[in-house]
Amino acid sequence: MPDFGGYPEAHALPFTDEVRRKTDHLYPKIARFIPEIEWRVHAPYIAAINDLKREKNAVILAHNYMTPEIFNCVGDFSGDSLQLAKEAAKTDADVIVQAGVHFMAETSKILCPEKTVLIPDMRAGCSLAASITGADVRLLKQKYPGAPVVTYVNTTADVKAETDICCTSSNAVEVVEHAAKEWGSDTVIFLPDQYLARNVAAATDVKIITWAGACEVHERFTAEDIREIREGNPGVIVLAHPECPPDVIAEADFAGSTSGLSNYVKENQPQNVVLLTECSMSDNVAAENPDVHFMRPCNLCPHMKRITLPKILRALQTMEHKVEIDPDVIARARAAIERMIALPLKRQSMYNHTRAPEVAAVESRV
Ligand code: SF4
Repeated sequence: MPDFGGYPEAHALPFTDEVRRKTDHLYPKIARFIPEIEWRVHAPYIAAINDLKREKNAVILAHNYMTPEIFNCVGDFSGDSLQLAKEAAKTDADVIVQAGVHFMAETSKILCPEKTVLIPDMRAGCSLAASITGADVRLLKQKYPGAPVVTYVNTTADVKAETDICCTSSNAVEVVEHAAKEWGSDTVIFLPDQYLARNVAAATDVKIITWAGACEVHERFTAEDIREIREGNPGVIVLAHPECPPDVIAEADFAGSTSGLSNYVKENQPQNVVLLTECSMSDNVAAENPDVHFMRPCNLCPHMKRITLPKILRALQTMEHKVEIDPDVIARARAAIERMIALPLKRQSMYNHTRAPEVAAVESRV
């Protein structure tokens, strides 16, 4: 049952004939994941949200880790952080509702400062974004003068403002190589995910200094998990996100960003597959690939799961919570994101290891 986002459960909206008329066409896509009895709770919210979006000229950007009823039934654009950032930059809507976590809403605000950007729950954070501050980055720059700073988009606006160029897991290797060349340095400061940093280091000759941050969802997977899955399921294809530790990536058949994993399934149509990433991702990719069997040893992101239909509806009704960022921070952070978006990258980063994933240093706050 959905989280009622602060409303008492008794205030759940009624499932009327009008709601049925407005939402019946949406149910078949998610019927495999949401039983009909639960759909009757979601559908009134979906109808109300879609009506309000039209009324307020709003769009909803839905990250791949959103639950199926959000991802498929109210999201106007969906994808990984990079895809959502690009959609935010292009949209002519007046209001953006970020169905994702706070750093994603900040990224939308940075790219569209004139628009109203709403996050349905201010507590939707991220262990990576929380691991580092702008002050930490300034100290690192003093310690490693001349080394460009490449920052994963899973960071706050303050951190992006101290950054030379941003990256996502879909382009991290290419961005690191570009930064080394552009800034004339054999070393790059890559923040804040130590595992993504190691996975990038295994795919490039550039020396990497990183930070002791980690995604609390992906760091929990182990190589032993994969060996057990394979033992019990011969022939299963294992796909992993590069925020997983390097020994997990080494055991997987393929590693890539959420869009990379989704494309792999679409193009290869494996018979039996497991996605080592956030749980809702499997549901959303499964909805697009009905002939593929998905095993579900996954981990939930508690921050992503704070975003629910009732909270999205409330955000549109009350125009809260607005994301506000200092204009100077916006200008500097925007330059780092736009440098990434402007790069003519031709392919997704490849992470399958051909050598040891070693970084030159892992820094942390002292
Ligand atoms: S899955 Fe990991 S990186 Fe993504 S929001 Fe959750 S904690 Fe952050």
